Amino acid sequence: MDFNFTEEQEIIRSSARQFAQKEIAPRIQEMVAKRRIPLEIISGMKKLGVLGMTVPEKYGGMGADAVTTGIVAEEIAAADPTMSIPVMFLVHNAWSYLVSKYSGNEVAQEFLPKMAKGEIITAIASTEPNFGSDIGSMTTTATRSGSDYIINGEKSFISLVRDVRDFGGGYVTVVKTAPDKGTSGVTLFYTPDSKDHIEITNLEEMGREGSTWGALNFRDYRIGEKFILGKVNQGFKIVHEGFEFARSLIAVMSVSTAMTCLNNGIEYMKTRKAFGQPIGKYQGLQFQLADHMARMEAARTLGFKALWMYDQEQKYKKFTRFEVSREVATAKLLATIWSFDAINDALQWHGAYGYTKYNPQELALRGVRSFMLAEGSREIMKMIIARESLGKEFFKE
Ligand SMILES: Cc1cc2nc3c(=O)[nH]c(=O)nc-3n(C[C@H](O)[C@H](O)[C@H](O)COP(=O)(O)OP(=O)(O)OC[C@H]3O[C@@H](n4cnc5c(N)ncnc54)[C@H](O)[C@@H]3O)c2cc1C
Repeated sequence: MDFNFTEEQEIIRSSARQFAQKEIAPRIQEMVAKRRIPLEIISGMKKLGVLGMTVPEKYGGMGADAVTTGIVAEEIAAADPTMSIPVMFLVHNAWSYLVSKYSGNEVAQEFLPKMAKGEIITAIASTEPNFGSDIGSMTTTATRSGSDYIINGEKSFISLVRDVRDFGGGYVTVVKTAPDKGTSGVTLFYTPDSKDHIEITNLEEMGREGSTWGALNFRDYRIGEKFILGKVNQGFKIVHEGFEFARSLIAVMSVSTAMTCLNNGIEYMKTRKAFGQPIGKYQGLQFQLADHMARMEAARTLGFKALWMYDQEQKYKKFTRFEVSREVATAKLLATIWSFDAINDALQWHGAYGYTKYNPQELALRGVRSFMLAEGSREIMKMIIARESLGKEFFKE
């Protein structure tokens, strides 16, 4: 067993850290005020090659594996407590990876070089107004029309909607091709954005001030069969490969942001005095800190183990998909809950300052809260772990 990162990964970490601390961290308040990720940050990420780093080298990407992507995710999340920039990083990278793996040659040649350079943005459109966790019940359909398909239906709560429209790009869209077949009737398409056939409605969210979020209404959106990712009616299995990559990144990002808040808390505890001494001298707070530090260590290890298992399965088929799903669900479940709790206590240690608007802990609390729902809720993580423990016969299809 080797817990070290490679020399190359350490170099990537070092440049990502330098970029994140120099270019991202100082501009968070500006981003929050303008409610938009500064364009220079997006350009910087492109220049660094990390906006599309999972796309294979032959298409101009870095061909980065999940662990290496996780390293950069950690550094970006350490600098942006709102989770806006981390979300752009994780969604684009995880879902561009899926497009790389499952698209046919023609779509790959046309879109992957642009995804690799961050010139176009990739997002995931799965959730609908009436169905999120229950993918088999979704109602958006792709109906065969000659050699094309026509997509109709509404997707909601989709991250990066405005970014996809502004920068160009598309969605990994989950649709029904056999509406009465539950999860066996699900297909994935790469759907490039279309102003004529996809109507966007922006939604207000609780946090992630720089991010964009909204609903997509597909109206008679015609698309060729070459845009199918993988095979018809096999989308349910394939989409989980994307979710697992994204969920593992969420685990390490949540911990990273929580660590920034805990470190802020440590500094504050050392200097803020109450009853004649620094509050850090009170064992009541020391023990809270110790619990959070212990949990962060455990959650970060779980997050990287999930990313590592994901790589082992993708590269060498060393684990089964179910083994990976279970590890990923464990990491996401614990990392998001524990990070949220750690941020909440770090906020508390700052007393009334902690409750002021837009301080890092307040931003992080709202940002990390999103991860208990996005890319699979914490209850769904528990269902996966329980299913793998009890057996599938305890769960309906
Ligand atoms: C900030 C944010 C960003 C998001 N970005 C995207 C995105 O980019 N693309 C996208 O497709 N979706 C996105 N989503 C949607 C997200 O994936 C869904 O919210 C999530 O999958 C849950 O679906 P739902 O909201 O429809 O809740 P439902 O599935 O309706 O569930 C409602 C509640 O019941 C719980 N529940 C459901 N089934 C069970 C069960 N069997 N046992 C116990 N509890 C259960 C759920 O966990 C949840 O708490 C985003 C959501 C948020 C909050």
